[in-house]
Amino acid sequence: MKYLITGGAGFIGSNLADQLIENGHKVVVIDDLSTGRLENINHLSDNDNFEYHVANIMNYGLLEYLVEQADIVYHLAAAVGVRLIMENPVETIITNVRGTENVLEACSKHNKKVLIASTSEVYGKLQELNGGIDLLNEEDDWMLGPTSKRRWAYAASKSLDEFLSLAYYDEKKLPVVIVRLFNTVGPRQRSRYGMVLPNFVKRALLNEKITVHGDGEQTRSFTYIDDVTWALTELMEREGVFGQIYNLGNGEEISINELAELVKEKADSKSEIVHIPYEEVYGPGFEDMQRRTPDITKIQEAIGYEPQYNINEIVERVIKYYRTR
Ligand code: UDP
Repeated sequence: MKYLITGGAGFIGSNLADQLIENGHKVVVIDDLSTGRLENINHLSDNDNFEYHVANIMNYGLLEYLVEQADIVYHLAAAVGVRLIMENPVETIITNVRGTENVLEACSKHNKKVLIASTSEVYGKLQELNGGIDLLNEEDDWMLGPTSKRRWAYAASKSLDEFLSLAYYDEKKLPVVIVRLFNTVGPRQRSRYGMVLPNFVKRALLNEKITVHGDGEQTRSFTYIDDVTWALTELMEREGVFGQIYNLGNGEEISINELAELVKEKADSKSEIVHIPYEEVYGPGFEDMQRRTPDITKIQEAIGYEPQYNINEIVERVIKYYRTR
C-alpha cells in the first residue's frame, strides 16, 4: 500500500511514517516544515519506500497529484500547540480550515480513504460543567469559551474540519474517519510550542526551574506515541470505521503538579518547581481547561485498542530520549 501523510515531518506524522515503513508499506510525506523538521525523517531518506515533498497543503495542484498516487491518506498537517495558536491565530485558523478542505476535496475527487486528525480540544470545557462529567465521549456536547478568547479558535477550526469530513462522508460517500487525539507525547515532540512534557523534561535535565501554569491542579491524560501510531495504522485496515469519530487517548489522569514532581524525581533533577500565572505565559485572552480525560470504549471496541504505556514508562522514555540528544 502507498500512504500519503500530510504533516509527515512532524512529531506524530514522522513516527507514523516509521511504523508504516516497518509494516512494509510505501510512504509519501508532504510537509511545509512550519512545525515539522527534516531531522525527523532524515533517517528515511535513503529508503526506496519513502519520498517527501517540502510543500504546503495550500498548494492544491501538488496535493491533488500526491493524493491521486496514494492508496490511503493520513491528514495530520495542522497548526498545533496552544502557544502557536495564541501567537499566530490567523495562520492557525486558515491552515486548519482551508488545508483540510483541500485534503477532503482531493480525496473525494479520487475516492481515497482518509483519516482526519482532530483534537480533544473540541470538547472544550465540558468536563468542568456542573462539577464536570466524568469521561469525554464522542457523542457529548461541546462547550467552548467565547470567541474573544483566542485559545478556542483551535477547537472551533478543528470542529469545522469534523463537520466537513462528515458532510463529505454523507453527501459524497467519502471513506473518511476522524480521530480526536488527546495529549500525545514521546520522542520528537518539541518543547518549543509549549507542550508540557518536553518542557518539563528539558528543564529538569538542565536543572532549570520547572514552570507550572496556574495552580497546577489541572489534569491531563497522556498517551505514548507508539500507542497512537498503532491505533492509526489499525484503524485504516478496518472497514466499519468510516463516517465515525474516535477518541484516541489514555484513561490515566495526572495533575500538572504531580507530573512536575514525577519528572523531577525520574530525571534525578535539582530543579525548583515554580507556579506562574497563565497571563504571564500566553498573554491576555487565555483560558485553560481543568480536565480532559477520554472515554476510549469506542476505539477499544472497534480495533481492540489498549494503551500499553503508563505515565511512569512514558516519562522515563521521554527522559531517555532527551538524555541521548
Ligand atoms: N503547562 C505547564 N507548564 C508548561 C507547559 C504547559 O504548566 O511549561 C500546562 C498547560 O497550561 C496545561 C497543561 O500543562 O494546563 C498541558 O499543556 P499542553 O500545552 O501540553 O497541552 P494542552 O492540554 O493545554 O493542549
